[in-house]
Amino acid sequence: MPDKHKNFSEWYTEILTRAQLIDIRYGVKGAIVYLPNAMDIVDRIFQMFEEELRKTGHRKVLFPVFIPEENLKKESEHFRGFEGEVFWITKAGYRDLDKKLALRPTSETAMYPMFNLWIKSHKDLPLKVFQSVSVYRYETKATRPLLRGREFLWIEAHDAFKNEEEARKQVEQDMEIFKKVVLEKLGIPFVHLKREEFDKFAGAVDTYAFEAVLPDGRMLQIGTTHYLGTNFSRVFSIEYLDIDESHKLVHQTCFGIGISRILAALISIHGDEFGLVLPFSIAPIQIVIIPIPKKDADVEQIKKICLTLTDKLKAKGYRVEADLSDKTPGEKFYKYDMLGVPIRIEVGPREVKTGKITIFRRDKRKRISIPINELERKIRELEKEILNNLRSKAEEEFKNRFREVSNKQQLIELARKGNFIIKAGFCGREECAEQIKAETGYEVRGMNIKEKPKKTTCIWCGQPTTKTVYIAKAY
Ligand SMILES: [Zn+2]
Repeated sequence: MPDKHKNFSEWYTEILTRAQLIDIRYGVKGAIVYLPNAMDIVDRIFQMFEEELRKTGHRKVLFPVFIPEENLKKESEHFRGFEGEVFWITKAGYRDLDKKLALRPTSETAMYPMFNLWIKSHKDLPLKVFQSVSVYRYETKATRPLLRGREFLWIEAHDAFKNEEEARKQVEQDMEIFKKVVLEKLGIPFVHLKREEFDKFAGAVDTYAFEAVLPDGRMLQIGTTHYLGTNFSRVFSIEYLDIDESHKLVHQTCFGIGISRILAALISIHGDEFGLVLPFSIAPIQIVIIPIPKKDADVEQIKKICLTLTDKLKAKGYRVEADLSDKTPGEKFYKYDMLGVPIRIEVGPREVKTGKITIFRRDKRKRISIPINELERKIRELEKEILNNLRSKAEEEFKNRFREVSNKQQLIELARKGNFIIKAGFCGREECAEQIKAETGYEVRGMNIKEKPKKTTCIWCGQPTTKTVYIAKAY
């Protein structure tokens, strides 16, 4: 495998194929086939988010992929933002359609005409729904599997509330949900950035993005949450009758979770030169058992131990496999390292004799020997340890990416050196952001909402400001 840090692009392309995650030979630009090894992981990521969404009062819905043209066009800013990316259906069978249909690029304009029918009274609020689907966007930039596609997997949650205060609380809750799954369960560090005015989601009042950093130092937006205010409820007339008998517009939020991109981040951030490295909880195979017979006479006894162990661990609910094939142990090690199986158990003559067992953990590539009767306890312990190790390694690397600069020359020089996440003062003007991009290739990604404003000057134009933003190369 190529070096992940020196040659990320090649490493990434190779791992998708070698770990049998994605097949890119489908023949439609920006469209990929997710293989079973990827879907096993994807399903679990979906489940983790869906569980958190349900815990916070959301219920699952499924809307049609078709959006009538007149609905998509209703909120003009929203439409302008997506116009260049919409796939249209204009013909069905032999007939041209009277009314064009869009394939959903996102579902505000699919759902909100129905919200209008469902919401009548304050008793119907809050309304909190989500769906787990594919969306379609005609990307004109170069597509990359999982990172930028014309069809990708996501979850979108759409909520309606009585007032701004409740809606803004939801935005905070969305951030908590994201942290619980992405950082705590998948070990992927990220920052919350408030997007600049000129970079908001089309139709939103405020946009907050979740940004991970890939090994090449580029930021990857893996999710967003938006406070929509009454921008959509006004055009779709989503009103409720309040306790005081007055009609009011609902305040809305939407929350997009980029499952395809989260998978890309998971593969890229934890993977190494031997292949995939996965947290125990989402690995398609959690434990593999490999016999290491030294001479022919041992074979049957060792295989028997392997199968007994497999049954025992399966009964405990683990996803475990014994590989009793004719391949050499070395070939098997190579294969399961590539697939990212977190725990490997090796059973050889020494193990049979001493009642001890050898465990290899993929994340640290270390062998340990334990008494066989301690196996289950050790697995439970490793499950947590592996995740903690992956997360702290990723956080360490993440922290080392950040650099603060205080003048234009420093910014230009640092940008020339490589891909860092640069913190600098910023005036908020699109013009400055455009010039930074043109000169350095870096983009203004927004401000970390957890950092307090402080007096500084715009890194580009020198204007006084209290805003510090993150500037980075991005996917
Ligand atoms: Zn400026």
